[in-house]
Amino acid sequence: MPNYIAGRHNTFAYQLEGYDKEWYHTDGDHHWATYTNLPAGRYNFLVKAANNDGKWNETPTSLKITILPAWYQTWWAITLFLLAVSGFIAWIFYYQMERMNKKRNEELQEMKTRFFIDISHELRTPLTLILAPLQELLLRTNDRWTRNQLEYIKKNADRLLHLVNQLMDYRRAEKGVFQLKVKAIYAHNIVEKNFRFYEQLAKRKQITYELQSDLMDKKVFCDANYLELVLNNLLSNAFKYTDKGQSITVYLKEDGPNLLLQVKDTGAGIPVDKQAKIFERFYQVENDHPGSGIGLSLVQKLVELHHGHLELESVEHEGSCFSIYLPKDKEAYKPEELAQTDTEKQLYSTNVKDMYIVDTEEEKEGTEQQPGEAGASASEGKRKKETILIVEDNTEIQQYLSEELSKSFITLEAGNGEEALEVVKENEIDLIITDVMMPVMDGIKLCRSIKQNLKTCHIPVIILSAKSELSDQLEGLQVGADDYIPKPFSLALIVTKIKNILRTHYRSIEHYSNSLEIEPEKIALNPLDEEFLTKAVSIVEKHMDNIEFSTDEFARELYMSRSSLHMKMKAVTGESTAEFIRKIRFNQACKLLKEGRYNVAEISLMVGFNTPSYFATCFKKYVAVSPQNTSKTEGNNKFKTPFNRIGILHTGLKVLSTYRNKD
Ligand code: ADP
Repeated sequence: MPNYIAGRHNTFAYQLEGYDKEWYHTDGDHHWATYTNLPAGRYNFLVKAANNDGKWNETPTSLKITILPAWYQTWWAITLFLLAVSGFIAWIFYYQMERMNKKRNEELQEMKTRFFIDISHELRTPLTLILAPLQELLLRTNDRWTRNQLEYIKKNADRLLHLVNQLMDYRRAEKGVFQLKVKAIYAHNIVEKNFRFYEQLAKRKQITYELQSDLMDKKVFCDANYLELVLNNLLSNAFKYTDKGQSITVYLKEDGPNLLLQVKDTGAGIPVDKQAKIFERFYQVENDHPGSGIGLSLVQKLVELHHGHLELESVEHEGSCFSIYLPKDKEAYKPEELAQTDTEKQLYSTNVKDMYIVDTEEEKEGTEQQPGEAGASASEGKRKKETILIVEDNTEIQQYLSEELSKSFITLEAGNGEEALEVVKENEIDLIITDVMMPVMDGIKLCRSIKQNLKTCHIPVIILSAKSELSDQLEGLQVGADDYIPKPFSLALIVTKIKNILRTHYRSIEHYSNSLEIEPEKIALNPLDEEFLTKAVSIVEKHMDNIEFSTDEFARELYMSRSSLHMKMKAVTGESTAEFIRKIRFNQACKLLKEGRYNVAEISLMVGFNTPSYFATCFKKYVAVSPQNTSKTEGNNKFKTPFNRIGILHTGLKVLSTYRNKD
């Protein structure tokens, strides 16, 4: 009970119900209560007092207090927040899902294309094995009905192959495998070569087919591979959509800073509303022509990569004109896009040109001739059959090649590089055809090993593979392969390439046997052989007057065994080691006779013969003129030897070759 008279001596106690757990007493003169940061809610503030006797009043005085919530604590604000948060979460979730879906779709698409391309890759081998024998069958079949059926099969197999190749080309362009390599080239020659490929088809379809070029003798900066691919795709389309009696014209000219290639036809034309779409991948205008819808998208991709652009003008039922503009000056390209070497020109695209021609007649040239007969001179005809080693892990392809090639050559087989090296050790091999991807040792390693070994580096190697990415071809050529044939191959192409390579080899041997002088750089077809010959010549020259100098010693100085030296000599020069030594000696003898300073007896000793009579017999046999006659003929004019007279020299060499054949 408070004392109102002496209020100073009163004491107070308070409690905020709903917040305080107990009563608080005020002390001294501090008669107040402070609350800060009270949570929103309803409270009851109780106060009681006691007088100076310590007597508390019974019923505390109460004060109802309501603390209002801050705006953000109000139910509507919280609801709004909750809604916003859940909305945000839903959005994130949705966005994530969307992204994942997109990614999954892309992956799926990628997987589909991958699968498609892998399958395509796989299809190339069986297709090869269908097409190659089919070509052979077609050549041998005279029965009209069978021929028609076979041609029907071929046409469709070709179409399938064309599709497979296009798919692979597109993929490779997309993945950047077709590295742009521009250099100054005669674009006209490239265009003309590819243009000619379709001449037969034009004739058969009675289409007026023309090439108009302003770039006959002019070089422009361009990538020949790109140009070929673009032109082949455009021509293949033009022939597809152009009928009998209509025309196709190819123009090649300069247009400002660009090279302009145009393929114009008076064929089906493309409806205006479809014109933008035809460059999309897999898009086809609905018509009854089979196709994949890849060709033009590939063209567009290639043109873009070549920093160019393309234009299309077309009127339905009147025709189309595709114009390709490619920058023709060096400045338009980055330094890494400029070709450094000449190797690029030897590379092939997946699409061997004839693959683009879907329904041409078989080109019979080359395949009609039997290998070994074609272009072979009479002396080549007599030559022993060459031995070809086929290195291939796919037994079917191995068997097929072996069967076909054994008609003209002796064939040996190996399943991988290592086996091949064993075969090479034990046999005289004239040429190796090898696949690239093989277990144990692949074709590239095999090629490197063959080309880096002096004993084997003269053996020509042809790489044959479905893995026709340009980089692989380059790898093959860099390790010294003599040629590269992409699968699916045509048997005729392989045989022609084998013949060409062997012919080059025989030509160098012929050069050797037709001249008395030994010129390593003209005989050897690779640096190792050239080095070998140069060294061999210098060793024989060093031992020119050494009567005892034998092939054994010769081999020893070359760090080779006698038999491997013999094999090497035979392979590079076509003759034995003894003949090689004799040739150098007789060459020297001729020079000395020509000088006229020494007599025959002296010369015979100077070139390592112990008796002049033996020297004379050998010399006569070799050059068909006796040494005595040689010096006599010279008479007063020391420089007029029989060797200066082409007629006699020619007879001499003829006799020389007869003499060798008898050997
Ligand atoms: P494909 O020819 O394999 O179907 P392309 O990408 O090469 O695929 O061509 C896409 C479409 O463009 C074709 O379906 C065709 O309708 C149309 N087209 C292409 N070139 C020509 C042309 N020269 N004349 C008429 N239509 C063409």
